[in-house]
Amino acid sequence: DATAVVGARVAPLGGEHVLLLVEDRSQARRVEEIRRDFLANVSHELKTPVGGISLLAEAILDARDDPATVKRFAERIGGESERLTRLVREIVDLSRLTGEDVIKEPVLVDVAACAIEAVDASRVLADEHGIELRTDVDAGCFVWGEADLVTTAIGNLVGNAISYSESGTRVSVTVHAAEDLVEVAVTDQGVGIDAEEHERIFERFYRVDAARSRATGGTGLGLAIVKHVAENHGGQVSVWSEPGHGSTFTIRMPLAGQQSSGGPASSGTS
Ligand code: ADP
Repeated sequence: DATAVVGARVAPLGGEHVLLLVEDRSQARRVEEIRRDFLANVSHELKTPVGGISLLAEAILDARDDPATVKRFAERIGGESERLTRLVREIVDLSRLTGEDVIKEPVLVDVAACAIEAVDASRVLADEHGIELRTDVDAGCFVWGEADLVTTAIGNLVGNAISYSESGTRVSVTVHAAEDLVEVAVTDQGVGIDAEEHERIFERFYRVDAARSRATGGTGLGLAIVKHVAENHGGQVSVWSEPGHGSTFTIRMPLAGQQSSGGPASSGTS
């Protein structure tokens, strides 16, 4: 591929012979582009809450004689700070997940326990949104990896399922063993996603509806983290969705073995 060649050197070897060194730097260039885009996105995303906080701080000074307004602005500063904290944590998580040798000491992870932990942590959000949370998990499905990462990935899917659904609907989380895989499925009855968006939603900072994502405190990094967690556990994530009919996100990971309770379950879930 001639267009991909960006480095070529000719070294004389004496007589009529020359050595032509051709280096294909297209891959390196692509990696560099991705890194640059990511940094540009990060600084853009950081500027929004930081700018908001400084405007709100000025507004508080102007409104200091009006306690109700001061309270309202102070609460919004709290909200922006939370968003900023979450964004920074997710950027750090993602940069770790895209590095090398991510899971240094894999342990047996009880996937059902991770799912229950993630669902429990989402209960307050579900109540706020009027969403019913259901679980149907098989005990004893283990994968090799890191429990906190699996819990984070399932938590991101549950958080999205709640955020992109209307009040009065249901979100269900299932964990089942299917042949040599563990399948974690998170299903909602929410807004759904157009087919042409299905691949892009796993990209960093990609949002179908930026306004809705921001309104729900979204960072645009949640699904990228899910994808990298799945891949770091030898698995993958897929989506089924129909606009207006909801979505199902499924993480499939190689099953490390089914253990009866009392087995090494505790090693991965602490
Ligand atoms: P965000 O923080 O914006 O939710 P994600 O990476 O988690 O970022 O998701 C990327 C985009 O995919 C979201 O902005 C949203 O448009 C879409 N999305 C993710 N999960 C769902 C879902 N369960 N239902 C509908 N849309 C979803």
